Amino acid sequence: MKCLVTGGAGFIGSHVVDALIRAGHEVVVVDNLSTGRRENLNPRARFYAVDIRSPDLAEVFERERPEVVNHHAAQMSVRVSMADPIYDADVNVLGSLNLIRLSLRYGVKKFIYISSGGAVYGEPQYLPCDEDHPIRPLCPYGVTKFVVEQYLDLFYKHYGLHYTVLRYPNVYGPRQDPEGEAGVVAIFIGRMLRGEEVMINGTGEQMRDFVYVEDVVAANLMALEDGEGEVFNLGSGRGTTVNQIFHLLAAITGYRREPVYGPPKAGETFRIYLSAERAFRAWGWRPQVDLEEGLERTVAFFKGRM
Ligand code: NAD
Repeated sequence: MKCLVTGGAGFIGSHVVDALIRAGHEVVVVDNLSTGRRENLNPRARFYAVDIRSPDLAEVFERERPEVVNHHAAQMSVRVSMADPIYDADVNVLGSLNLIRLSLRYGVKKFIYISSGGAVYGEPQYLPCDEDHPIRPLCPYGVTKFVVEQYLDLFYKHYGLHYTVLRYPNVYGPRQDPEGEAGVVAIFIGRMLRGEEVMINGTGEQMRDFVYVEDVVAANLMALEDGEGEVFNLGSGRGTTVNQIFHLLAAITGYRREPVYGPPKAGETFRIYLSAERAFRAWGWRPQVDLEEGLERTVAFFKGRM
């Protein structure tokens, strides 16, 4: 199939591109390189340096006529969304709408949308959090991610645009940006390997559901032909604190310094992990790479880049 992957120069999107190409699909990447990198681009994908908000996106659709759109491009930082909610909405809502509208116009058969299980539910009333949990985002990023889910549901009902939503947990692995605004694993590894101070925001007892990138990539392939009109949490069902991540990574990298604790960041959920029972029942999907193994692989990747 011909797949257009937005955000295909970014951390997760680039792994999705690689997996699609390995599976024999033809891939077109749209990315404005705002946080993505050229070196993440698979040379066998056709690349368009286009912003998803731009009118130029229509030319990409006109020329390429993709059958599948896999939408990873986003403003993905909670902190940026708190500081600049207009930019967040511009990229995440208006950019997505531009893409959805063109998908309808050019007869796309399947739209796979990446949402955030860590951001849309807010502070959970129960754990693990399933897809039926109330939506109560604590930050603009959670609002904009969810709004697009709602548009997709609407366009499915009105115009028959087939879609699947994947709500990601905290994804980590090779190519995550160690200098980025988000991604505690990559940030800690970068600082540990350079022997620099590691700052933990808040007490470090905040809990997240960490899943290795290869595992969420597998769900993207499953969603190509299945899961129509459905929303799936992806997660391990297990919470790990930021302090635990610090100690696991310190052991792997040989880092001996103590962490420095700073003030907590506004807008972030304190404790969340996700139930992916629905994805398991539908696709047999479950994370295959356990946390220690995934962290070791990620450290090995960053060591190789130094
Ligand atoms: P990333 O920043 O590495 O990837 C985002 C990509 O989108 C980048 O390559 C960036 O250049 C591109 N992009 C941003 N704005 C764009 C625009 N206006 N036009 C075209 N391209 C644009 O981040 P990531 O971690 O790989 O996130 C990918 C997706 O997964 C995002 O939708 C994010 O919200 C979602 N997600 C990520 C996590 C996680 O743990 N990393 C968790 C939940 C959801």
